[in-house]
Amino acid sequence: MKAVIATAAGGPEVLEYTDVPDPVAGGGQVVVKVDAAGVNFIDTYRRAGVYKVGYPHIVGVEGSGRVVSVGPDVADVNEGDAVAWAEGPGSYAEYVAVDAKNLLPVPEGLDMRTAAALPLQGMTAHYLCRSTYPASASTVALVHAAAGGVGGLLTQLITSHGGRVIATAGTPEKAERAKSYGASDALVYTELDDLAAELPRRVRVLAGGGVDVVFDGVGKTTFDASLASLRPRGMMVLFGGSSGQVPPFDLQRLNAAGSLFITRPTLAHYTLTRQETLWRAGEVFGAAASGELKVPIGASFPLAEAAQAHRALESRQTTGKVLLVV
Ligand code: NDP
Repeated sequence: MKAVIATAAGGPEVLEYTDVPDPVAGGGQVVVKVDAAGVNFIDTYRRAGVYKVGYPHIVGVEGSGRVVSVGPDVADVNEGDAVAWAEGPGSYAEYVAVDAKNLLPVPEGLDMRTAAALPLQGMTAHYLCRSTYPASASTVALVHAAAGGVGGLLTQLITSHGGRVIATAGTPEKAERAKSYGASDALVYTELDDLAAELPRRVRVLAGGGVDVVFDGVGKTTFDASLASLRPRGMMVLFGGSSGQVPPFDLQRLNAAGSLFITRPTLAHYTLTRQETLWRAGEVFGAAASGELKVPIGASFPLAEAAQAHRALESRQTTGKVLLVV
C-alpha cells in the first residue's frame, strides 16, 4: 500500500510517499481502509523530533474510513462499519490497523471527511471546556488562534453554552472567522508591537477586568500575555505550543499574578475510559451531524502531498481542519 513515512527527525522534507507492507489486524485490532487522515500539530512535533518517536515511522494518528478486516478478540465491530479515530498511529496511509477500543462510530448523517476532521480537535475542544474548565453562561474566556482547528471548535462550544469568548487570531480575515464562530471580540495579536503588555491591556478593557480562563495552544509567544490577562484565581490552560514550547517556569509567578491556577492537559488523560471517549465523541459528532457545530475544512491535500500540508499548517496559512484525502 501507499503511505507517508518520516524518514528521520526534520522538516517537511523528511516526509516520503512510498510503498510499505499492508497492515494486519492483531489481537484487539481492526484494519481500516482510510478515507481521510487528519493533519494535526502532533504529527509535526513527532516528525520534527520535538516528541520522541522512532524513524522511519508512518505519520498520522487520526482519520476515518471503513473496517475491512477484524482481528481476534474484537466484539461489536463488523467489516464495512464506518469509523473514525484519534489514536491510530500510521494513519497517513491507505490502510491502518487501529485498536478497537479507540474506534469511534460515525453516526448517520455525518460525512466521512467531517468524521476525519473531528476526533482529535473536537474531543480536545470538548474536554477543555467541559472538563478542564467547565464553561458556563457566566464564563469569560480568552481563546488564542480561534480561527484554527481546536480554537474554532472551542469557541463554538463555549459560546453555545452562553459563555463569552475574546479571541485572538493572526490576520484580520482570521479574526472575522473567529467572530463567525461566536467570539464577541477578536484581536489581531500579530499587529501588536509588545504582545506581552498590549494584549492583556486590551483584554482587560474588553472583559472589564481579567478573564476567568485562558485556553492557550500557541504557547511560547502568548504565554506571558495569557497569564497577565487572567483575573485573580483565574485558570491558565496551556494545551499546546504551535509557536514553540513554553520554557521552564517559576511557580512564584502564579502567586504574584493573582493566585492563579495552571494546567497542561492532554487528550489521553481525558479519554481514560471507553465510556468517557464515547461521551465526548458522541457529543461532538452529534453536534456536527445536526449542523449545530460548524466543522470547516480549510484545506484538503492528496495523501502524496503530506509535506505541503505540514508546510501550510506550520506556516499559519490554514484555518479550520487540514485533511489528507486518501
Ligand atoms: P491550528 O489549526 O490552531 O493551527 C495553529 C495555529 O496557531 C495557526 O494557524 C496560527 O493561528 C497559530 N500560531 C501562532 N503562532 C504560530 C507560529 N509561530 N507557528 C504556527 N502557528 C502559529 O492547529 P490545531 O488546532 O491542530 O492545534 C492547535 C494547538 O492545539 C497545537 O498547539 C496543538 O499541539 C494543540 N493540541 C493539543 C491537544 C491536547 O490534548 N493537549 C490536542 C490537539 C491539539 P494564527 O495565525 O491565527 O495565529
